[in-house]
Amino acid sequence: MSETLRPAAFLDRDGVINVDHGYTYKPEDLAFIEGAPNAIRRLNEAGYLVVVVTNQSGVARGYYGEVDVERFHAHMQAELAKSGAKIDAFYSCPYHPEGVVAAYRLDHPDRKPKPGMILRALRDLPIDAGRSFLIGDLPTDVQAATAANIAGHRFPGGDLDDFVAGVLLQAGAPLGPK
Ligand SMILES: [Mg+2]
Repeated sequence: MSETLRPAAFLDRDGVINVDHGYTYKPEDLAFIEGAPNAIRRLNEAGYLVVVVTNQSGVARGYYGEVDVERFHAHMQAELAKSGAKIDAFYSCPYHPEGVVAAYRLDHPDRKPKPGMILRALRDLPIDAGRSFLIGDLPTDVQAATAANIAGHRFPGGDLDDFVAGVLLQAGAPLGPK
C-alpha cells in the first residue's frame, strides 16, 4: 500500500511559481520566478506529485472569474511543458469573507492559512503526507502546511530551483540533475 503512495510538493503559486503582479490572471502576464520550471521538473524527476495550492480572492473581489483562473493555469502548464515540467494538480480558493461577489463571500476552510486545499489533495491523490512539504512565500502558506501536519518552507525569493534543491537535500530525497 504505502509503496504506491508518493510524496507531494505543495507549491503556492503567486510569488513562488510566477511573479506576483497583484491579482495576476491574464495569460500574457505570466512571468516565471527564476528557476521555477527547472524546480518543478526537478520535483517531477524526484518522484514528487506537484500540487499547486493558491488563494485567488480576486474571484470573490470581482476582478476575474474562476474560468480565468483555469485559463491561466492551462497557460502555465503549457509553458512548463516547454521545459519538460508538469504540475499534477491545481487547487485554488476563490473565496474571501469580504468579497463583493455574493457567491464567493465566505470564510471558507480552503483559504490559507486554513489547510482545506491541502487536506483535499491528501484525500484526492495518492500522497504520502509524511514525506510531503509545502513551499510558499507568505507566513500564511506555512501556517496552512502546519495545520495540515506537513512541513512548510518559506521561499525568500531568488532562484526557486536552488531553493527546491536545498529542500530536497534536507528531505533526503534524490536531487536529480541540475
Ligand atoms: Mg504567494
